[in-house]
Amino acid sequence: MNNETTSQDGNVFSWLDTAISAREDVARAANAINPSPWTAGSAEDTSVTHIALNDPESILRRCAADRKLLELHGVRGHGCPAYDYDGDLNEFARFYNHEACPVVQHLAEGYGWTAGQTPPIEGDQVT
Ligand SMILES: [Zn+2]
Repeated sequence: MNNETTSQDGNVFSWLDTAISAREDVARAANAINPSPWTAGSAEDTSVTHIALNDPESILRRCAADRKLLELHGVRGHGCPAYDYDGDLNEFARFYNHEACPVVQHLAEGYGWTAGQTPPIEGDQVT
């Protein structure tokens, strides 16, 4: 991964976009060398099965789905689940375009984001 992907000093939105792009680039490069689908064949080695289940096409599908979630929840004002004062995720809050809702934070965690993980968010209650 490049420095932009590993640096968590910036905002989570650009960091996540860079992290997804890095995965897409590697998946496309791997697919160019050894096109999907990858199969486990009759191997009983679970690591081979794991590799087959994470072939380039499946990674690109995951990245595309994550981009759709980022489009819905990132860099736009919206209402989204939020933690209440007890730490339960059973409230709705309004997030402004510069605020990362829990969905964006959890997406980023899946790509390795560790800065400021899912603190309780005290947004404007909408329900
Ligand atoms: Zn959201």
